[in-house]
Amino acid sequence: MATERERLHNLFPDLDFDPEALRARYAHERDRRIRDDGEDQYVEAADQFAHYADDDPYAETIERDPLDIDIDVAVIGAGFSGLMTAARLKERGVTNFKVIEAGGDFGGTWYWNRYPGAQCDIESYCYLPLLEETGYMPKEKYSYAPEIFEHTRRIGEYFDLYPNTLFQTRVTRISWNEQDQHWDVTTHRGDHIRAQFVIQATGPANRPKLPGIPGIEDFKGHTFHTSRWDYEYTGGDHNGNLDKLGDKKVAIIGTGATAIQCVPFLGAHAERLYVFQRTPSSVDLRGNKPTDEGWYASQQPGWQRARRENFAAVLLGQNFTEDLVADGWTDIARRIGISLMNRKADAGDLDMEEILLRSEIADFEKMNEIRARVDDSVETQDTAEALKPWYRQFCKRPTFNDEYLATFNRPNVELVDCSDSKGVERITANGVVAGGKAYDVDCIIYATGFEITTSAHRRVDFDTIGRNGESLYDHWADGFRTLHGLASHGFPNWFTIGINQNGLSPNMTSMFDDQAVHVSYIIDEVKKRGKRVIEVDAEAEEAWVQQIVALAGTGATAFLEECTPGYYNREGKGSGGNMQNSPYAPGINAFNHLLKQWRDKGELEGMSLG
Ligand code: NAP
Repeated sequence: MATERERLHNLFPDLDFDPEALRARYAHERDRRIRDDGEDQYVEAADQFAHYADDDPYAETIERDPLDIDIDVAVIGAGFSGLMTAARLKERGVTNFKVIEAGGDFGGTWYWNRYPGAQCDIESYCYLPLLEETGYMPKEKYSYAPEIFEHTRRIGEYFDLYPNTLFQTRVTRISWNEQDQHWDVTTHRGDHIRAQFVIQATGPANRPKLPGIPGIEDFKGHTFHTSRWDYEYTGGDHNGNLDKLGDKKVAIIGTGATAIQCVPFLGAHAERLYVFQRTPSSVDLRGNKPTDEGWYASQQPGWQRARRENFAAVLLGQNFTEDLVADGWTDIARRIGISLMNRKADAGDLDMEEILLRSEIADFEKMNEIRARVDDSVETQDTAEALKPWYRQFCKRPTFNDEYLATFNRPNVELVDCSDSKGVERITANGVVAGGKAYDVDCIIYATGFEITTSAHRRVDFDTIGRNGESLYDHWADGFRTLHGLASHGFPNWFTIGINQNGLSPNMTSMFDDQAVHVSYIIDEVKKRGKRVIEVDAEAEEAWVQQIVALAGTGATAFLEECTPGYYNREGKGSGGNMQNSPYAPGINAFNHLLKQWRDKGELEGMSLG
């Protein structure tokens, strides 16, 4: 029996690095970052911090009288998930609905996140939905936030959704009215809406999250969260020109995907910028380019779905031969494919252990390049060392930017590594304390992300009360309980679009769209069959939960258990043995295929009509 070292040498005789040393380094870096308080280290943007989430710096308040109405469907949320749902309902001729949205326009994440440099990392040809229907050609391979926001408005106009939408309206509660067989929806504007169906499409990143740093409430200077960028204070706009920062000392806390994009602009304009980093991001090449009009015009009908499916298949290692998107997301899969193709003819049977090993080696090579990129871009050695990520590429969300690393060569920019203390130590009236040193600043910007994987209830600031007064969040107390991630037993005529127990893709819009197609089909069928109520059967829900759990051990959930802490793995706590919140492990394409088969059967299997 070959030892691990011999096996490595046999499979990879030419390696110029030591995989075992990298494994040990990754484990060490992970362990020293894990905090006992896990997800409890964050504070909610509620009570004294509510303004971080509730304030809308982008729109004047619209005055209107409270509504008292009866409708067929209430869609809660007008980000991409709610928008796609509304569009798909309209396509099916369901028109008596309202979309209820907290923001002042369509867009959700793209309404709120207007920080300088905001851009989507997923290729625009995959990310922007309904390109074929609306005839829109994205300007570049990777779209900036204003273009994406405009596209949500374009979809809103194309499907004539503005008259259906109540903007600047927050739902306060939804409850099932058993006697009259509808949902009572109330809002902070005093609306009372009776809706036959409710679709909760509140998005995965709708609630900003704050670090529970001691003293956070003591700071006397200016503060805001990146998702409510205060251009009044900074000056400038999405393109930068933050001219009011010229005499300001600025701290930014967090170095995730958001900070990577806005730090270059802060560095260019602030008198002094301190970047407080706990874990460095992996920062890969951006390499944006304008859309080739000829290529775009030559695409055949159905091209966008085919491209999205190809992207998903390549990411899951299900297709190594044709990589249409060919970017930093699919790079590792390509490398694994090449590694497998170069396998010697006499290498024996390929087993799962070898596939996992080849994947790990491809990952090490990729991350070695990411670390070498830091050395190539950053002049000061200590700073370069601190900026190097020591984990596998998909342990944290990979980022892509061509200016971030070089920003640390500016004399006015300082990286403050606070990994030793597992984060910023303290905030005082005058600034930030890290590594025992006080940094006095005029402004603190929180780039600390969103409530993405904290408890489902915490992410939605209203209650959902089903049959017999049961709260959805009690029903989900031990993890999601759904059929296909979309509906739950005890909650008739209620659906949700999002990341629950469904096929997951980093290309969120395609994921939401397929869910929207499915839910709008179900609602249309209930109407066509002359019924009023549809509900998931308890047995079907239990069977789906069991399937999710059984498949989870083979998928991303198992991979993430070993990773450096972050929201991907509940701050290093992992699933805690509970696999119920896992996505459908075979992936988004298999999931969509399963949903299509379910629809094609036409039996509404696992659901009962009444
Ligand atoms: P994030 O990825 O959750 O990053 C939060 C940052 O805050 C992390 O660097 C975290 O450090 C740091 N942090 C938290 N508590 C801290 C403390 N006490 N002291 C110091 N640092 C602390 O948030 P985000 O950057 O806003 O991104 C959120 C998600 O939005 C992304 O993952 C992505 O899905 C999406 N997004 C996408 C794009 C895009 O497509 N280009 C752009 C922006 C955002 P640790 O890593 O050590 O926890």
